[in-house]
Amino acid sequence: MATAMLAAGIRNRSARRSAAEVPADLPDFVRHPSPNHEDRRGVERPNLIVLHYTEMATCDEALARLCDPDAEVSAHYLISEAGEIWQLVDDDRRAWHAGAGQWGGVTDVNSHSLGIELSNTGITPFAATQMNVLEALLARLMVQWQIAPERVIAHSDMAPSRKSDPGRRFDWRRLALGGLSVWPDKATSTRGRFIDHAAAFGYPANEDPDDVLAAFRLRFRPWHDGPADGVDTALAADLAHRFPVDRAGHTT
Ligand SMILES: [Zn+2]
Repeated sequence: MATAMLAAGIRNRSARRSAAEVPADLPDFVRHPSPNHEDRRGVERPNLIVLHYTEMATCDEALARLCDPDAEVSAHYLISEAGEIWQLVDDDRRAWHAGAGQWGGVTDVNSHSLGIELSNTGITPFAATQMNVLEALLARLMVQWQIAPERVIAHSDMAPSRKSDPGRRFDWRRLALGGLSVWPDKATSTRGRFIDHAAAFGYPANEDPDDVLAAFRLRFRPWHDGPADGVDTALAADLAHRFPVDRAGHTT
């Protein structure tokens, strides 16, 4: 399968991934067009991928809402717990999933991104099949649109004060081990301020530092609580050093 080959190509960046975790082949997309999209503004192709959970009781409910013209929300893809993929908006269109927020110099995240919704109540673990299919979809989209692993982010990353999805139950480390996102190495330098390092990695510099810390921990230190400490600073410094957000020049 071409898809499996693409996925294997990305995985080869990491020798740590075991054969037992090989993503499932990508299922055929079920076309279910949403009316909630428009032209991208200022960019022709996506350069970010934003992951969400639906926070709804069922996937059918989420599908209906993401296609309801009155709701004025959408995403490019919706993945059910059973691993079905609905394509709601074409990749070249601007879907309405991100809202207000920022990642590095990108302030119109919808124009720059693809949005993937995972059917999930917000308080339940993510299904294994759903994760396998997400990995296969990410692998395909990242090759197709030449999107780097550090540009696969959480909704909470770009809108720390408003959003908390896909939440602390989402396994970002697993994605990173497959080359589909990034993960900080154990770092020892605690020089500088957490918020400055976080901003250099991409977090909005103009938001409340406590909200940025909370979003950072949702992704990189799930279940950790308490005031900011040297580990937060060191992890953020490592990410900022290895993945400075605007090196590819994506802005506005
Ligand atoms: Zn979201």
